[in-house]
Amino acid sequence: MSSNHLKSWGIFIGLIVGVLVGIIFNEIGENSVTRWIDSNVLWPVGNVFLRSLFMIVVPLVFSSLTLGVANLGNTQTLKGLGVRVLLFYITTTFFAILIGQSLVNTVQPGVGAVNAEDRQAIIEQNEDRIASLKEKSSMVPKSLWPGIIESVIPKNILRQFTDFNMLSIIFVSILFGIGMMYLKDEKSQQVLRDGLAGVANISVMVVHWVMKIAPYAVAALVASAVFKFGSKVIFVIAQYMGLVIVGYLIQFFIVYGALLKYLVKISPKEFYKRASAIFLTSFSTASSNGTMPVTIQVLQEKFGVPQRITSFSIPIGATFNMDGTALFEVIAALFIAQVYGVDLSLTSHIVLVFLVLVTSIGVAGVPGGSRPILMMAMAAVGIPMEGIALILGVDHILDMGRTVVNVTGDTVAALFLAKRSGVDLNQNMKNIPAS
Ligand code: ASP
Repeated sequence: MSSNHLKSWGIFIGLIVGVLVGIIFNEIGENSVTRWIDSNVLWPVGNVFLRSLFMIVVPLVFSSLTLGVANLGNTQTLKGLGVRVLLFYITTTFFAILIGQSLVNTVQPGVGAVNAEDRQAIIEQNEDRIASLKEKSSMVPKSLWPGIIESVIPKNILRQFTDFNMLSIIFVSILFGIGMMYLKDEKSQQVLRDGLAGVANISVMVVHWVMKIAPYAVAALVASAVFKFGSKVIFVIAQYMGLVIVGYLIQFFIVYGALLKYLVKISPKEFYKRASAIFLTSFSTASSNGTMPVTIQVLQEKFGVPQRITSFSIPIGATFNMDGTALFEVIAALFIAQVYGVDLSLTSHIVLVFLVLVTSIGVAGVPGGSRPILMMAMAAVGIPMEGIALILGVDHILDMGRTVVNVTGDTVAALFLAKRSGVDLNQNMKNIPAS
């Protein structure tokens, strides 16, 4: 099948159109017509795309990850790959946190940004959202430990699959893949391989079809996000937003650029060109999980990364590796601390870094997945939780940006693994046209 649909021009034009329509709607403001168009045209079109991508994640991940693990041949290779990818993820997330912390401590955007009266007014406006986030965040510590056992080992496989519990899906797929390595009966071995390959191939085919509507869906999703962008809030926290975006750009271009150039040894320029469908999809959907099918496909079709690597590292990356989220969380928490005049000790800073690093595993790869986790981390070091109200108005836009960074981190890691496994990426790129 041709990979024409991965041409990003259409999606890019969709993005521009979306921004323009969003700005016009934002200017007109909320009235019955703009609200009607938003909920009956923009949102449904975006939702078809979003749901179709989500729909394909479970069959795609289960079939390709199980097959990918089985194809590794032995558990030693699996362990080597696992350790390497996890170390890579931890290191890049640590870099992201350091970038966020240095930026927010140097610029100090929160100092004197919002007076006590405005702060209270914003909190009151967002009372309901804060209450529901508070409830979710109170469950975070338990869900990390001992709750992680229940999230990883399912009592009922099908229930966990239908609940979209990525940790369980990854665990069961790896377990079945290992099982296949030891399956003696050749006939069942072959039947399983053929069956799983069939499901994986059909899933890929569906992604090709879904991507055909990407330009329209991206336009609709972006228009809706820009329309809802609160213009009153912008001014007060423009510096905070700017800083988060600068952080994303440093991670995206400098950290990943350097890793690509010196570790993966491919041209960063060529990478940004070939991977643009991934950036545009993650930006408009604000979901690492939703983007997974596209990430896998682009890596295979534009860089020639073998399925055994993409199927292994991308689901794990989308679940565990959240560089953009970690960077955002540190800036957001410290910005809110600055607004409230909370002076954090060195120990609290270290605890915050540690919490952000560890809890990024618990962040669901969905829009706004990190908000309850951020509140939990803030509370743990004595930053008032309700301060999150200050940043909620602009968070969807920043969520779109951090998802791009999250997914790019996973993509770079997959390329690194491919290179370490002996794949000649430069040769592959010579053979595969960029567009
Ligand atoms: N939306 C992000 C993702 O899917 C998670 C978050 O930071 O809220 O990667």
